[in-house]
Amino acid sequence: MDKILRINMGADGGPAIKTEPLGDYAGFGGRGLTSAIVSKEVPPLCHPLGEDNKLVIAPGLLSGSTAAMSGRLSVGCKSPLTGGIKEANAGGQPSQMLGRLGYAAIVLEGKPKENTLYKIVINKDGVDIQEANDLCMLGNYDTVDKMKAAYGDKISCISIGQAGEMKLSAASIACTDMELRPTRHAGRGGVGAVMGAKGVKVIVIDEAGMKMREPKDPDKFKAANKEWVAGIRKHPVSGEGLPAYGTNVLTNVINEAGAYPTKNFMWGRFDTCEKISGETQAALEEERGGKGAATHGCHRGCIIRCSGTFMNKDGQYLTKQVEYETMWAHGGNCGIDDIDAIAMMDRLDDDFGLDTIEMGATIAVAMDGGIAEFGDAEAAINLIKEVGKGTPLGRILGSGAAVTGQVFGVERVPVVKKQAMPAYDPRGIMGIGVTYATTPMGADHTSGYAVGANIMGVGGSVDPMTPEGQVELSRNLQITTAAVDSTGMCLFIAFAVMDQPDTFQALVDLINAFTGQSLTAEDLTEQGKSILKMERDFNTRAGFTEKDDRLPEYFKKEALPPHNVTFQVKDEDLDQVFNW
Ligand code: SF4
Repeated sequence: MDKILRINMGADGGPAIKTEPLGDYAGFGGRGLTSAIVSKEVPPLCHPLGEDNKLVIAPGLLSGSTAAMSGRLSVGCKSPLTGGIKEANAGGQPSQMLGRLGYAAIVLEGKPKENTLYKIVINKDGVDIQEANDLCMLGNYDTVDKMKAAYGDKISCISIGQAGEMKLSAASIACTDMELRPTRHAGRGGVGAVMGAKGVKVIVIDEAGMKMREPKDPDKFKAANKEWVAGIRKHPVSGEGLPAYGTNVLTNVINEAGAYPTKNFMWGRFDTCEKISGETQAALEEERGGKGAATHGCHRGCIIRCSGTFMNKDGQYLTKQVEYETMWAHGGNCGIDDIDAIAMMDRLDDDFGLDTIEMGATIAVAMDGGIAEFGDAEAAINLIKEVGKGTPLGRILGSGAAVTGQVFGVERVPVVKKQAMPAYDPRGIMGIGVTYATTPMGADHTSGYAVGANIMGVGGSVDPMTPEGQVELSRNLQITTAAVDSTGMCLFIAFAVMDQPDTFQALVDLINAFTGQSLTAEDLTEQGKSILKMERDFNTRAGFTEKDDRLPEYFKKEALPPHNVTFQVKDEDLDQVFNW
C-alpha cells in the first residue's frame, strides 16, 4: 500500500488517472489518511457537491494483511449533511482487496462536465474507467449483479444507489460482503452524494493475482496475531455476545437501561421491544433456515462474526441480519415492532443506498410532524420508497432529519451538526451525549462509544445518569477511536482492547511487526489526538464554533421517562473535551 490513485473526474476529454507515491501521507491509513487528505486539500468553505470537494477512499493500515479483523474501509470528504469533515467506514471485502492491490487511497477529484456516469475497474493490471450510463438509477443490488455478470464473482464493489445519484444528504456508499451483496455501508454524512457528484456509480475491485501483504517481521507478526485472536475470543462481548446475537443483542440491554429512544426520542423504553430483539431475531433466523448469526463475518479475517442473513417468511434471502442501530431506527424509534417490516426497510435502504440511522430518525421526525402514525410499518416502508423514486417528498426525507424537521415544523429533531443521533438517548447515557455533541463528525456513536463504560462496565464504569466523569470518558474514547479507525480494525475489537491490557499490547505489537515501527501505546494515543486536531481544524475553518458542539436544547428541558432525567453535562464542560 504505497501509492495513491487520483482520478480527476472533471479533466478535459474525460476522467484522468494518476498514480503517485504516498509522499507526505506516508504512515497514514484509514481515517487518518482520509482526514489528512481532506484537511489539507479540500477548501473548507467549498460546496460539498462541487468540483473542489474530494472523495477519499482508504483501506486501514493493516488491511490486506492476515491480521484478524483488519478489513475496515474509510471514506472521507466534506459532508453534504453536516458541512464539516466526514469519515464514515464500512466492512465488506473492498478494503482487503484494495490493500492487496497496493492502494493506500483512491481520491476522486473534480466533477464531470457532462451528466455522465462512470464505472472504475481496478485490478492487477491497473485502472480502467468506462462510461456506465446503462447503470443510471439502478439500485445497489442490480448494479452489483451486473458487475458480477461482467467481471465474475471474485470481485468486490463500492457503489451508490439512486440516493447517491440524486445527491441526497442521507446517501450512503455500499461495499459488498463475502457473498458479493451490497450490505455493508459507509452510511453517515451523505458520502454517497459526493460519489454521485463525482459521477462514479461503481468501483469494481479484482484482486486476482495479488498476494497477501507481507509484514516486515513475519515471526513477530504471527505471534502477535495469535495473541490478538485469543484476546478477542476470550472477551465475553466479542467472544460470545456478538457472535451469538449480532449487534442487535443491545436492544434488550439499552431498553432495560431506560435509554432506548422511542417514538422520536420521547420515551426511554419501548414496551414491545422483545419482538425485535437480537434474541428474537436469532431464533427467527434459525427457524427460517438462514445462516445463523454465529457463522457470518462481513469480510475475510473477521473472527467475531457479528453478522448473519435475514430470510423472509418464504425462506428467501431478504437482507443481512439487521443491525441494532437499524432495528432501532426503523423499529422502536418509529414505534414499529414488526421485524419483517423492519428487515424490508433495511433492504430498501441498502438498495437505494441510504443511511439506515438517518432514515429511521427522519421517518420518526416526519411521524412527529403528522406525516404518518407512529407504529405504521406500511407507511414507513412507503416513505422510503418515495425516496427511491425521487418524488419531492422523497427528496425531502432523503435530505435527512434536520431538513425534514424544518420542512414539517417539528421542534424535537435529534441531530447534532445536522446529523441524526443513533440508538442511545443522551439523557439516559450521558457519556454518549458528550460524544454526540463534540465529535467533529456530527452525532455519531462510533466516534467514542461511551455506552461500554456507561452501561456494560466495559473499559471502566461510569454512572450513565450523572454528568461526572463523562467528559473524560468521551475524550479518551474519541482519541482511541481515531487511532483504531486508522488501522482498518473493526471497532468491535474495542471491548477486548479496553478491558484486557494484553490484548491492547497485542494490537500495538501487530502494528509494529507489520510496519517495522517501534510504536508504544502512548504513540497511538498521540496519533489519535493529531487526527482529531486535523478534523477540528477543518471544521473551524468551515465556520464551526463551540455552539455547534451542543445537543438540541430539548434534551436539557424534557425529562426522559422512565428515569425522568435530562442531559446535565454543562456547556463549559463540553468545551473541555479537546483540551488535553
Ligand atoms: S465483527 Fe461484525 S462488523 Fe466487525 S468485521 Fe466482523 S462481521 Fe463485520
